[in-house]
Amino acid sequence: MNLLGQAESELRIAATAFDSQQCMMITDAQGVILRVNQAFTKTTGYSAAEAVGQTPRLLRSGRHPPEFYAEMWQTLLGTGSWEGEIWDRRKNGEIYADWLSINAVRDAAGRVTHYVAAHTDLTRHKEAEAKIARLAFYDPLTQLPNRQLLLDRLQHALSVSQLGQRYGALLFVDVDDFKTVNSVLGYELGDQLLRQIADRLKASLCESYTIARLGGDEFVAVLEDLGGACDEAVIQAKAGGRKILELLAEPFQLGEQEHQGEVSIGVTLFLGSAQGVDELLKQAELAMYEAKAAGRNCMRFFDAEMQRVATQRAELVAALREALAGRQFVLHYQPQVDGEGRIVGAEVLLRWDRPGHGMVSPAAFIPVAEDSGLILPIGDWVLETACQRLLAWAEEPAFAQLTLSVNVSAQQFSRSDFVDQLAAILERTGANPHRLKLELTESLLIDDVEAVIGKMGALQSIGVSFALDDFGTGYSSLAYLQRLPLDQLKIDQSFVRNLQTEHSSVVIAQTIIALGRSMGMSVTAEGIETEEQRRILADLGCNLYQGYFFGRPMPLEDFHAFVERSAHGD
Ligand code: C2E
Ligand code: MG
Ligand code: MG
Repeated sequence: MNLLGQAESELRIAATAFDSQQCMMITDAQGVILRVNQAFTKTTGYSAAEAVGQTPRLLRSGRHPPEFYAEMWQTLLGTGSWEGEIWDRRKNGEIYADWLSINAVRDAAGRVTHYVAAHTDLTRHKEAEAKIARLAFYDPLTQLPNRQLLLDRLQHALSVSQLGQRYGALLFVDVDDFKTVNSVLGYELGDQLLRQIADRLKASLCESYTIARLGGDEFVAVLEDLGGACDEAVIQAKAGGRKILELLAEPFQLGEQEHQGEVSIGVTLFLGSAQGVDELLKQAELAMYEAKAAGRNCMRFFDAEMQRVATQRAELVAALREALAGRQFVLHYQPQVDGEGRIVGAEVLLRWDRPGHGMVSPAAFIPVAEDSGLILPIGDWVLETACQRLLAWAEEPAFAQLTLSVNVSAQQFSRSDFVDQLAAILERTGANPHRLKLELTESLLIDDVEAVIGKMGALQSIGVSFALDDFGTGYSSLAYLQRLPLDQLKIDQSFVRNLQTEHSSVVIAQTIIALGRSMGMSVTAEGIETEEQRRILADLGCNLYQGYFFGRPMPLEDFHAFVERSAHGD
């Protein structure tokens, strides 16, 4: 190919490239537009005739300060090229995002003769980016801001509060009994409830507050600009909380069902940014737990007392951990007797011999142990110790026939490996499983009932038996009760306590005894303190008893002496 031909074909290539999909513009060294392509006209709305002779200022959106363009020119003159994101304006006034790259064309002497600018319309990218942002910052179920965005906005609210010295409030909203909704109505309706709650909050509040979903059944509202006076801020925050309670008080329609969805609200105020977002969230959550404890469907404000309780709780968890390692737990034994007054066994009751505090009752630490998960290792220790006791007793005639009842918390029993764990303990200690009785509570039945039945069956087949503790205080469906391989019902002590004063307690005790009988279970009454209570229960047909009237929970040595005394008939 001769030189002329080569130049010609290069021109053709250049022309074709110039008419590509990308929007192109060529200016002279002074920036006066010489040529634009068709894509340019399509994107900007300016024809070639309108653009040629103008400068790229034609496209300025007004969104960038003059320094932006000054810097662009400086780079361009210095390096010969510039590339970046830029906002431009179409002929119809619409502003759009562009990816712009400009290159200088130089002659043989190195002088700039032209500039070639290529634009890529980023509108589509921007839309995609917005979508990605929605995914990253909004909860897909409710379309409310998610935790991430909430933290951002809260941080911002704190800075604004700091600047203006104006109060704001954080409201932590938690749906009451949501777990039950999920397990009774199913997850789909559970989701529907969350969506409907979000819609109600959004519809009436999102103008004035930030509403977000933290996750699960937890929502948060941020109220800003509540004035410079604390009292006034409290009043306004209270009004905000009350509004939320009212909005959610109306029943929800879940499929065919009407559902009364109630919430508990914890509130904390902020002024300035001295307290961080995490701290505030924690405070509002604590206050929410107070609201739950106060009977739900209400709101509570965070205060110093709550903080104190929370700190104490944290210390208690640490001390419990030490107790495990330092062998500070002991078991006490409370006798269980039959109708003739013979000792048939004992319930083992956990005590914490806490240095400096004396014997601590389980009521004071079991709830914390459950919350912190420490109930699992503690429960293992109780089972192991009880099994060792059974083995030691197997050798002694006065004790060999006694059963030991062990309280097992719902959390412990729900562990997927509970059956294997207990089987391993029995194996390891060599205890007779037929002497071991596990006391379960009705709270266990809120979770997966089929799994509970399966585990009970597996343990029953190796000889372990079961009692249902505190019966009558929880929620038990008779349908479940019939399917559980239970050996025993324990009438809760609250009914026993009132036998002499409340006729309804007599009726309940009577019903439980009849129920147990009809299902082939024995019935134990617990908390018997007087001869009169024992007599009433005996008349009703109860066959096993436990209570201070017969014997308090006592250390092992005392229990041994107790059994030996009663064997000698005194
Ligand atoms: P529970 O299983 O219903 O145990 C009966 C509770 O009633 C015991 O309280 C016992 O001391 C008390 N009691 C027995 N007779 C009478 C009486 O005549 N009058 C009165 N007023 N009370 C009586 P304790 O030992 O404080 O245990 C409280 C609860 O702590 C137990 O209730 C049980 O739910 C839980 N607990 C105890 N030990 C363990 C354990 O090893 N593991 C687990 N998970 N929970 C345990
Ligand atoms: Mg018990
Ligand atoms: Mg009980």
